[in-house]
Amino acid sequence: MTAQLIDGKLIAQQVRDEVAANIAKRTAAGKSKPTLAAVLVGERVDSATYVRAKGKACEELGMGSVSRHLPADISQEDLEKVIKDLNADKSVNGILVQLPLPSHLDEERVLQLISIEKDVDGFSPLNIGRLAQKGREPLFVPCTPFGCIYLLEQAGVKIEGANAVVLGRSNIVGMPAALLLIGKNATVTVCHSRTKDLANVIRQADIIIAAIGKMEMVRGDWIKPGAAVIDVGINSKPDATKKSGYRLVGDVNFDEAKEVAGFITPVPGGVGPMTIAMLMKNTLRAAEIQDP
Ligand code: NDP
Repeated sequence: MTAQLIDGKLIAQQVRDEVAANIAKRTAAGKSKPTLAAVLVGERVDSATYVRAKGKACEELGMGSVSRHLPADISQEDLEKVIKDLNADKSVNGILVQLPLPSHLDEERVLQLISIEKDVDGFSPLNIGRLAQKGREPLFVPCTPFGCIYLLEQAGVKIEGANAVVLGRSNIVGMPAALLLIGKNATVTVCHSRTKDLANVIRQADIIIAAIGKMEMVRGDWIKPGAAVIDVGINSKPDATKKSGYRLVGDVNFDEAKEVAGFITPVPGGVGPMTIAMLMKNTLRAAEIQDP
């Protein structure tokens, strides 16, 4: 193996320890504990698991958490009322709406309603708009791309002037990751399902952020020697040696890529743990903004 492994589990734990220490300092100074409200609509098992994991992280870090579990057939109006109530609730510092929402609901309108000071997922059009504008700062950066950039910086990868290729252009990962890299003075190419000759585009990259949800698609010989590879993908690969019958792999063929890359994140244990760590960091920031 030539690549240096970027240990997301360890780096996420350092972020969490730092957040917990800051919360302890704030509460010792008589301030209320930062509190995160999670809104879950419907019965999707994966969404419920993510919301539970976020609540558990809050508890571990000394943060407050509340959850609003709403029926799958809730009306747009009733959901908007829940958001407005949470906006007005002074005991709540951060609000996240677990996505995706059932298809009858207007996701954009819901996200737009979240007060910008409480938008700890960073998905409101106002936060994303600020991220996209030169010289403007969003209050909150979306957690997964925030985690990707944090991992690069912690590993000592030079972003300024680098050729970066982002695979995927979703609102929650690819697009904000590309905007963050541009903000840090990388030269960025964004690839998607209509990109031609993906392998050759990737071969130019000093930094690759892969977020396409296609199991082990990026092959070792697509990677420039020494490049930094951040693998966001989470895919289940059948594996008879596991009790569950599968194991998690990324969008990059790790065994091939680790022989060529300069830096690489594993799956699991790379970007995954960073997402919740950055959510905790954002929620602390929300409390600091609202109650300096
Ligand atoms: P989406 O499905 O929303 O977006 C996938 C993107 O990949 C789209 O832009 C799509 O292009 C592009 N794409 C799909 N197929 C190809 C292809 N063959 N070649 C090039 N581009 C392609 O996914 P997400 O952004 O939500 O998630 C991506 C992955 O990251 C998933 O595996 C997901 O599980 C994981 N993830 C991990 C997180 C973590 O915490 N580690 C958090 C969030 C996601 P087009 O726009 O043209 O359709």
